Amino acid sequence: MTRRTIPYGRQSIDDEDIAAVTRVLRGDWLTQGPAVPAFEAALGARFGVTHAVAVNSATSALHLACLALGVGPGDRVWTTPITFVASANCALYCGASVDFVDIDPITYNMSPTALEQQLAQAAAQGCLPKVIIPVHLAGQPCEMAAISALGRRHGVKIIEDASHAVGAEYLGEPVGNCRYSDITVLSFHPVKIITTCEGGAALTQDLGLAQQMALLRSHGITREPAEMDEPSHGPWYYQQLALGLNYRLSDLHAALGLSQMRRLDAFVERRRALAARYDRLLEGLPVIRPWQHPEGHSSWHLYIVRLPETPGNASRSEVFSQLRENGIGVNLHYIPVHMQPYHRERRGSSAPALPESERYYAEAMSLPLYPDLTDDDQDWIVACLEKALTGVTP
Ligand SMILES: *Cc1c(COP(=O)(O)O)cnc(C)c1O
Repeated sequence: MTRRTIPYGRQSIDDEDIAAVTRVLRGDWLTQGPAVPAFEAALGARFGVTHAVAVNSATSALHLACLALGVGPGDRVWTTPITFVASANCALYCGASVDFVDIDPITYNMSPTALEQQLAQAAAQGCLPKVIIPVHLAGQPCEMAAISALGRRHGVKIIEDASHAVGAEYLGEPVGNCRYSDITVLSFHPVKIITTCEGGAALTQDLGLAQQMALLRSHGITREPAEMDEPSHGPWYYQQLALGLNYRLSDLHAALGLSQMRRLDAFVERRRALAARYDRLLEGLPVIRPWQHPEGHSSWHLYIVRLPETPGNASRSEVFSQLRENGIGVNLHYIPVHMQPYHRERRGSSAPALPESERYYAEAMSLPLYPDLTDDDQDWIVACLEKALTGVTP
């Protein structure tokens, strides 16, 4: 049986999304018009934060968040190895160095125990990080209460990378509300929960941080006389206050994002139903299904299984290849960042080992999951997986 290729993730676009984008194209502003502030207001309301700064990617949001928190040359930033490279690269953009805290073998998120030990050691040696960036892998919330308590104890700032976790909940509140962090970063790439094509946002409850990120998003220039270091020259005047960038989101993108927010709950609902279905269908197969936070709800950006490396089991690599040959877009999230040659060289050979992350890398595999995946697609994926695991057609 041949079927169309099933990707691991993809956007869901409806006629209203298309109409929203078309309205912008027919209007007066393609960028820097009313759609961006409207999108930001909707994000603020949804996540329960006073400030949302929309930008052209989560990578840009991570960079701005580090800059706003004063990360610079000589500073250290820590994140998890099991993330997209952007969560680490933001430190390097600022001239800081990056290091990693190992994951918990059950949750696959940054281990609070490993973090506590690493912080105690760094405190003793006088080399504490300035910022820690936990990542809610797959949309499963990190242990933010513990991480934020450790951050406060050591005077370390926290940026939550919630690129996967739009629509997730932790202790009865939305992930992203900055109760446990200084800034939360979101991604709106097409494979994520909602999309603006390319796009992202930084959320914060701190006016100063929001103003700094908004300034740096647009060349570091202001048109507000009250913000200027010197008197305005006249109505044409703008003043550069800092070395900013052009990380703006366009109105076209923001209109799509605003339209997508209508369906955010429905997207997460469908992802949750598909994840529950995977849980049932995979019962009895030699795979470890995803852990679920007892006091939280994942947004189910990813459904990650582990194929334990035990004698008699088909290896992850074999299973992975066989599924790809069947047109099933399984994927691997992620190659541990510290194993990337670029980062390995900069980290040096004396850096601490990260055994849980490397073990995870040997066993993990993401199965396709997105709102428009059908039950029929899913049955086919599981049938192919079962065949690859056991060599028997069910
Ligand atoms: C997708 C992703 C990013 C980067 O997002 P962009 O919007 O593509 O820049 C950063 N961190 C994590 C964890 C991601 O998954």
